[in-house]
Amino acid sequence: MKYIGAHVSASGGVESAPVNAQAIGATAFALFTKNQRQWVSKPLTDTNIALFKENCAKYGFQSEYILPHDSYLINLGHPEKEGLEKSRAAFLDEMQRCEQLGLKLLNFHPGSHLKKITPEECLTLIAESINIALDKTKGVTAVIENTAGQGTNLGNEFWQLKYIIDKVEDKSRVGVCLDTCHTFTAGYDFLSDYDQVFQDFEDQVGFKYLKGIHLNDSKKALGSRVDRHDSIGYGFIGNKFFEKMMRDPRFDNMPIILETPDETLWEKEISWLKSIV
Ligand SMILES: [Zn+2]
Ligand SMILES: [Zn+2]
Repeated sequence: MKYIGAHVSASGGVESAPVNAQAIGATAFALFTKNQRQWVSKPLTDTNIALFKENCAKYGFQSEYILPHDSYLINLGHPEKEGLEKSRAAFLDEMQRCEQLGLKLLNFHPGSHLKKITPEECLTLIAESINIALDKTKGVTAVIENTAGQGTNLGNEFWQLKYIIDKVEDKSRVGVCLDTCHTFTAGYDFLSDYDQVFQDFEDQVGFKYLKGIHLNDSKKALGSRVDRHDSIGYGFIGNKFFEKMMRDPRFDNMPIILETPDETLWEKEISWLKSIV
């Protein structure tokens, strides 16, 4: 079965996210559990936590299909001590928030080397950062998102995702989220060669690690390494690819999340995607 939703607003409190997801016909959703542009946010209150769980139960959202996203400020591969420590502390806080909410996944962008260390050194730091957070939490899987490779962001090539996973001690709590826009602008041509791209993913990472999908069209061309999402069917990727993906059982039973720019289209996008399955 396909579980489809969007990255919905949690303004007013995390408990509003399942309400917003239900309103657009979603069967999965993503959210920020804190302000994504600030280092420190107020802790979740007992009321937030209870209402979040109550609303998820009320609308039938299971934690397997909820994919929280961490703050954009965090760089788990930061080349400098201060930035790394700040990021690790913030990431642990994100993991603990997920734990409190009974969530099982936390999606994040791996990190950037900022031209100060090699990609391999940066990937090793990221894996260490994951190990530290997994050590201090229970039940939450760290879900590494592939990137477009903009600037010095790592995670744009499949081998880099595997390089991190190989260095994570608890393999049962590490996974991957593929963003279709990022995959495409990173240079994987799934329009001309769908089978080969996902075979490469299987060979280099493995579908057993795939825990979620970000379903976005792209405003930028193949291999541009620029991260600009577009609404489904409006960008360089186009409807045919998304139809194929919806019929592909390798993407069953995981959250499929829209991060498309026009939220007034989400309800329509979700119902179109559901209609294909
Ligand atoms: Zn994404
Ligand atoms: Zn993106």
